[in-house]
Amino acid sequence: MRRVLLSAFAVSCIAAMVSSAVNAGVVRGPANEDDELVPTGKGWGERPAPGTDNGQGHAQGKPGRPTSSSNGINYHGGPLILGTTNVYYIWYGNWSGNSATTILTDFASNVGGSPYYNINTTYYNGSNVHVSNSVAYKGSTDDSYSQGAALSDAGVQAVVAGAISSGRLPKDANGVYFVLTSKDVNETSGFCTQYCGWHTHGSILGSDIKYSFVGNPDRCPSACEMQTTGPNGIGGADGMASIIAHELEEAVSDPDLNAWYDRRGYENADKCAWTFGNGYTTSNGSVANMKLGSNDYLIQQNWVNASGGYCALSY
Ligand SMILES: [Zn+2]
Repeated sequence: MRRVLLSAFAVSCIAAMVSSAVNAGVVRGPANEDDELVPTGKGWGERPAPGTDNGQGHAQGKPGRPTSSSNGINYHGGPLILGTTNVYYIWYGNWSGNSATTILTDFASNVGGSPYYNINTTYYNGSNVHVSNSVAYKGSTDDSYSQGAALSDAGVQAVVAGAISSGRLPKDANGVYFVLTSKDVNETSGFCTQYCGWHTHGSILGSDIKYSFVGNPDRCPSACEMQTTGPNGIGGADGMASIIAHELEEAVSDPDLNAWYDRRGYENADKCAWTFGNGYTTSNGSVANMKLGSNDYLIQQNWVNASGGYCALSY
């Protein structure tokens, strides 16, 4: 994920170059061409741990024995988030006076039902029940550095667990909890160098809870945001909107990292990361590619699991 200078006429072309550069560098370890990899939730695949089922404690998935598909992504037997997906935000660090809280709340409130989110309805479970084009923004809470300004992966889970156990957010197995960190906060397993966000799941108060880390890309604009001024005038928040979209659609189609991914361990949004399709110029000169509610956004494409499979902005 390298710095990209953007023009309205070269969005998809430049993004495609970036995408291939990213893809070339994300598979860790001495993987052979024929290796079947499993997702990490961080945008690259890894070899399944021997003798385990993806390390995730679910019996359904059998990495390396996917159902056959001609769409470039395969179902591995695990659950999906079905029905309405509930989104919760945890504003971690110091977000006072930052319009990101308004912009990203608006995004979560309007992405459900859109032609863009409808792409996710091409994913289904073993009973052929498809994902719904339905997202509900259910609320947020603040966390003022309960785990410090340098978060580990375990620290991110502790932030989510703290919000739930304290009753500030409900415990919701159909929810995706986003830990959104302010610019001064680092995630020490690789934010800005290995990834811009990630999703996973964990056992919290006895339930399998899906959650995601999304950092403020103003911390590293060259790595994690497409433009320093976004459609809503704030590069960090506009960059986060695309990363939230990415992690949300992966959390829905592959919540436990054992449902939909390809043989490289890439989940649906990984397959289209940093590609944006056709954009248009907004009044402040930035580029957008979709309008949700009353705001313009520049959101990455997602993988359509139909017609052979392809990246798109709508379905
Ligand atoms: Zn991803």
